[in-house]
Amino acid sequence: MRESYGISPSIEHYACLIDMLGRAGKFSEVECLIEDMELTPNVLIWENVLGACRIHGNVELGEKAAEKLFEMDPETDSNSVLLANLYAAKGRWDDASRVRASMSSKGVKKEPGCSWVEVDAQVHVFLSKDASHPRLSDIHQKLEELGDAVTEAGYESDAKHTLHNISGKERVDNLLRHSERLALGLALINKGSAAGKIRIFKNLRICGDCHECIKVVSGTMDREIIVRDRNRFHHFHHGVCSCKDYW
Ligand SMILES: [Zn+2]
Ligand SMILES: [Zn+2]
Repeated sequence: MRESYGISPSIEHYACLIDMLGRAGKFSEVECLIEDMELTPNVLIWENVLGACRIHGNVELGEKAAEKLFEMDPETDSNSVLLANLYAAKGRWDDASRVRASMSSKGVKKEPGCSWVEVDAQVHVFLSKDASHPRLSDIHQKLEELGDAVTEAGYESDAKHTLHNISGKERVDNLLRHSERLALGLALINKGSAAGKIRIFKNLRICGDCHECIKVVSGTMDREIIVRDRNRFHHFHHGVCSCKDYW
């Protein structure tokens, strides 16, 4: 950049590069780059490091990144959630609950996940494990049918996306009750929108397991499903997502 274009890399350039290297699991290169950069690593840099550590289960570097973030940005709940997720994925339940306990003692609250979908010109809102919707039993039935169909199509529920130390069956049930899945269930049982696009919105990042499941649904049911989460639009069609699993 410097030699060919006369541009000095800004912190955003470094953050992108670190994000790419981190997602590719090249952690020694990430660490060298952070050591060598002329700018002081900011929140963006450490968030990318922590996110990559969560993907690849790198606890050691993840803890370091989380510590930096807790100092720089103590108010943000998502960093604690990522660290707790990282521990949980490694089966380190005591550490995961320690992080959650420290969140509640500091008064940091995890923003509850919530999804909404428009059906018949009406917006329906779901929380995780929501039990308030009048068509809940139909929705659950649909999701169970769907579960069988997508399993046949090769989808395997990935229980590492659940945060709690519970048995395998319960974990899978928990995933089925995620707000984005309830919203999808409602859209699918609605006859009025039998062929149209399904548009779901979520206030947080879509979880990896729901992303995988919706991809498969878009293929097996031949539906276009668009999920707008906190970070981006995911356009699912023919069994793939426009983000190419990069988000
Ligand atoms: Zn989910
Ligand atoms: Zn996607």
